[in-house]
Amino acid sequence: MSTEQRSLVVFAPLRVEAAAVRRGLRGGGALVIRTGMGPDRARAAAKSPEHAEARALAVAGVCGAISPDLRPGDIVVATEVRTPDGLAIRCSSGPLAAALKALGFEPHLGPILSWPRIGDRDEREAMAATGAIAVDMESAWLAEAAAGRPFAVLRVVVDTVERDLGHVLATVTGGIRALRILRRAVPAIPRWAAGTSAEPRWVLLAGPRSFCAGVERAIEIVERALALYGPPVFVRKEIVHNLHVVRDLERRGAVFVNEVEEVPEGATVVFSAHGVAPRVRADAERRHLQVIDATCPLVTKVHAEARRFARAGYAIVLVGHEGHEEVEGTTGEAPGAIRLLSQADEVDALDLNGHRRVAYLTQTTLAVDEADQVVAKLRERYPDLAGPGSDDICYATSNRQDAVKALAGECDVLLVIGSTNSSNSRRLVEVAAREGCPAFLLDDETEIDPSWLAGTRTVGVTAGASAPEVLVDRVVEALAGLGPIEVQERHVVAESLQFTLPIELRTGGDR
Ligand code: SF4
Repeated sequence: MSTEQRSLVVFAPLRVEAAAVRRGLRGGGALVIRTGMGPDRARAAAKSPEHAEARALAVAGVCGAISPDLRPGDIVVATEVRTPDGLAIRCSSGPLAAALKALGFEPHLGPILSWPRIGDRDEREAMAATGAIAVDMESAWLAEAAAGRPFAVLRVVVDTVERDLGHVLATVTGGIRALRILRRAVPAIPRWAAGTSAEPRWVLLAGPRSFCAGVERAIEIVERALALYGPPVFVRKEIVHNLHVVRDLERRGAVFVNEVEEVPEGATVVFSAHGVAPRVRADAERRHLQVIDATCPLVTKVHAEARRFARAGYAIVLVGHEGHEEVEGTTGEAPGAIRLLSQADEVDALDLNGHRRVAYLTQTTLAVDEADQVVAKLRERYPDLAGPGSDDICYATSNRQDAVKALAGECDVLLVIGSTNSSNSRRLVEVAAREGCPAFLLDDETEIDPSWLAGTRTVGVTAGASAPEVLVDRVVEALAGLGPIEVQERHVVAESLQFTLPIELRTGGDR
């Protein structure tokens, strides 16, 4: 086997597991070592010189479930492996999970406990108290082999916590099924290994990144409403466009609805940071809802401009993306006066019914350069074009784009943390691409496709204005799990803007 093939070593404890792994890998790309079952054999395999040249190591096999959420055939990726005496070793998990998702699997991530024997039901309940989600008999001891190299564990559940077992493969049907799934899943391991590196990588963090003042305010509004009025607190639309923020608030009692008609009469409803059209306010009033408005003040400013231009008889060209909630809210302020477009090449076809007084407004989260092109084209066609007193594209959007531009030239790839419905996050991907840097949008570390990182020396990381900073930490940790990294911050500007909360939340709920 060549040196390159030895760059990945996969440990498989049992003969049947090793056979499934070898068949799954079809002989290429990895050295598969059968270790034998249990801690002693795992320790011996960890000391073997066979893996000395490997760049990355993995364990593949079956496991027993501890978490009641796991079913036979589920795939578990270890976030860490633990010994019975409490020693925990971190594993590379997010990028392996992404590689599994690319193959069509939905892996479960969590700690795996390594235990000297497969326990009965009583023992599994004691294991559950440790917080581990699954149990095996080797991984934590095999982890000693890694000695700082990237290390991952992929296990397939063979039995559930309800069943007593003498041995994990004693359930013949479950065992065969698990081994079949293992065979199909193991190609994710070389995909994961392709993203690992023995050489140090630079990780450049764009600054500013992550939450803006409007998002911080909107989230705090929901948190304070929950504390003051108790759950449920209804929120019209996603409070900000981020999956993690929405899930977290849901867990704490927020109920997200699409329209105020879904909110019980008289209940409390929060309007999202993107703003609402006057029609929505009227609907809420009709239903006697207690409204708390989390519209970002910078969006409110655009609404005021739309009303001002409409009152003065202007035809308003709104530069923005159709279907975005902010655009719907702004358009609702002057529906008869506003025309929407998103690109410069749409300007020529614009029909403003012979209007001479023309004004433009923009969505707050556009790409600055693209919006400038559209406005320039509008000005060519309408030399007296009026515009907002100050830019509608908000400080947070332009600062995050400037930060990306400042480091894109140094990066082999840029990871942009944000949800797919986050306009400002998507613009960061486009800005990087225009600077010649491949960029990818991801919700969290479980979406880091290892192929993005293959052969890279410098990885940029940023986060859209609606993505929490904790996700940046998790992505950086996931990168560290793929090989040594050096992290550097690159700040282009400091941000200190803060917005005050609505009066009813500042005064403890008095309305
Ligand atoms: S991105 Fe800009 S407009 Fe949107 S919430 Fe943040 S500060 Fe407000």
